[in-house]
Amino acid sequence: MRMVDLIQKKRDGKALTKEEIRFIIEGYTDGEIPEYQMSAFAMAIFFQDMTQEERAELTMAMVDSGDKIDLSAIEGIKVDKHSTGGVGDTTTLVLAPLVAAVGVPVAKMSGRGLGHTGGTIDKLEAVEGFHVEIDNNEFIDLVNKNKVAVIGQSGNLTPADKKLYGLRDVTGTVNSIPLIASSIMSKKIAAGADAIVLDVKTGAGAFMKELEDSKALAKAMVGIGNNVGRKTMAVISDMSQPLGFAIGNALEVKEAIDTLQGQGPDDLQELCLTLGSHMVLLAEKAASLEDARKQLEDVMKSGKALETFKTFLAAQGGNAAVVDNPEMMPQAKYTFELEAKEDGYVSEIIADEVGTAAMILGAGRATKESVIDLAVGVMLRKKIGDEVKKGESLATLYSNTEDVADAIEKLGNSFKVSSEKVEAPTLVYDVITE
Ligand code: URA
Ligand code: CA
Repeated sequence: MRMVDLIQKKRDGKALTKEEIRFIIEGYTDGEIPEYQMSAFAMAIFFQDMTQEERAELTMAMVDSGDKIDLSAIEGIKVDKHSTGGVGDTTTLVLAPLVAAVGVPVAKMSGRGLGHTGGTIDKLEAVEGFHVEIDNNEFIDLVNKNKVAVIGQSGNLTPADKKLYGLRDVTGTVNSIPLIASSIMSKKIAAGADAIVLDVKTGAGAFMKELEDSKALAKAMVGIGNNVGRKTMAVISDMSQPLGFAIGNALEVKEAIDTLQGQGPDDLQELCLTLGSHMVLLAEKAASLEDARKQLEDVMKSGKALETFKTFLAAQGGNAAVVDNPEMMPQAKYTFELEAKEDGYVSEIIADEVGTAAMILGAGRATKESVIDLAVGVMLRKKIGDEVKKGESLATLYSNTEDVADAIEKLGNSFKVSSEKVEAPTLVYDVITE
């Protein structure tokens, strides 16, 4: 086989065979296929797309390019959740203990990464002593015992994706549905998921800003998952404004604690119940979606969800007293209010701008070397559709410096207030199961 022939085949819109796709991914991972040929190939996919079968083969070839996590020693169906990313998305912190409390095993591998706030691991480190440096055996034991544990990313998962993603970033080929879908799904499958619930965000703060594009991505991923024997479904959810109120690390842990007791922000709570119900159903721990939801509501009310969170934190060195005393987490020295300049209704909260304001305050990493300040961030006081009076707070900035001019400006630009009544946006647009 010659790479040049395969590039031409895809360029001309023909479907590649399993062997051809394996040849390309293996050759590229080993360094035998050079970057310039792979970039031409990625561009050919960008224009010619891939069939369902090709997408599934590409995904599995990337899974097989590196280590695969073996979770077979964990009892039950391991359901993973993946969000395509948004601002102030606290769902993982809530869902892990929430679904574990009804018996779904949650074996979560998480990373740090760049962004507006830290990743799940950074956020959890706001709990004194909590750590994810556990070995595989301990990880599996903890999931069997407590139904939930979080481990740091292992070194050599899907190296083909890592390399290809880097190449796509500099060759104008990131925004391709078959490439995004295979990239995301390969990582979930390599991390050992039996079943996958996808939270595909849509709107101004999402990777896919248009509903139709979000649906197409969701269908592509669900298609891949079901094609390779992993039950997969997707929820299309709103990211036109940040989710919940908190954007920051310790602030989001506090928000998760509230939500686990049924006292979280309406949108975050509802999305967690929706995603959680599908996770419980895929794990075969409920007879129906309604039954699954009822079980989740029950563990929120009874306190079992919160107890599960405490047990999970303590098992990984964390001081679980934080759950009843959130003020034990890092606290910012200063707070500043963003005040409304006029009466009206909040009509827009540009999620990306709010995220950038949080990052300027130090809540996220701009580069790999950045050090996160776990205490800082933004608390929204109003959401889209809320009425506001002049001088009322739209949001509070939590900061460890008094110089917040840039962050306040960003945050101010993100809010639009209209004199006319505004409807709150739809939270869940669609559910894709095939
Ligand atoms: N996230 C991923 O992991 N891969 C992509 O290609 C795009 C977003
Ligand atoms: Ca939030």
